[in-house]
Amino acid sequence: MRIVMIGPPGAGKGTQAKLLQERVGVPQVSTGDMLRDAQRRGTTLGKQTEEFMLKGSLVPDAIVIGVVEERLAEGDCADGFILDGFPRTVEQARALDEQLRRRGESLDAVLSITVPEKELVRRLSGRMMCRSCGAPHHRDFDRPATPGRCNRCGGELYQREDDREDRIALRMAQQIGDMAPVIAYYRATGVLHEIPGVGPRDEVFGRLAAALA
Ligand code: AMP
Repeated sequence: MRIVMIGPPGAGKGTQAKLLQERVGVPQVSTGDMLRDAQRRGTTLGKQTEEFMLKGSLVPDAIVIGVVEERLAEGDCADGFILDGFPRTVEQARALDEQLRRRGESLDAVLSITVPEKELVRRLSGRMMCRSCGAPHHRDFDRPATPGRCNRCGGELYQREDDREDRIALRMAQQIGDMAPVIAYYRATGVLHEIPGVGPRDEVFGRLAAALA
């Protein structure tokens, strides 16, 4: 299955994409994770993108499109993928369609997760990520059993630079408006499902799974 998962920062894309990956058996491809990984390793891509991410703005289309094209050409994506956080612009959506068209493929579903802005801010400001497996936690409603340690793998938890309180507002202002044309683009294709992302994680997952059935 070829699935795209879109939504504003804090909508739960990463969490739900990980659950879906286990259910569907195709890899989660997160552009945010790939860029953070490049920054950790100090690669050219990491250096090119660091500034944009710290400011909460989008990384230029040409860079992200290249990263995704390469990743989707890898063997484990031959039978499908769950794109998490891509596309975020119409230009990216067009490039993805074009790459799939060249391969004689198309998207099976676009899952757009919607969450009110106030709730997004609450989620992001308390979020802590695992350095080893990437699993998100929350200091109030998804607490680590051992302080500072991941519930899944025991890895070290940290707060993302762009989840700092002063950076969240910037990110919201810059990214929420950007999504509207992408949603309109996919609405026209007939594969768009708009899924309310509020409520317990498993309930939201149930809605996503029902949309794919
Ligand atoms: P995420 O982990 O999806 O919240 O992404 C973190 C940051 O990575 C975003 O705030 C952007 O700066 C950058 N980023 C991730 N995906 C994209 C994309 N598709 N287009 C442009 N920038 C992106």
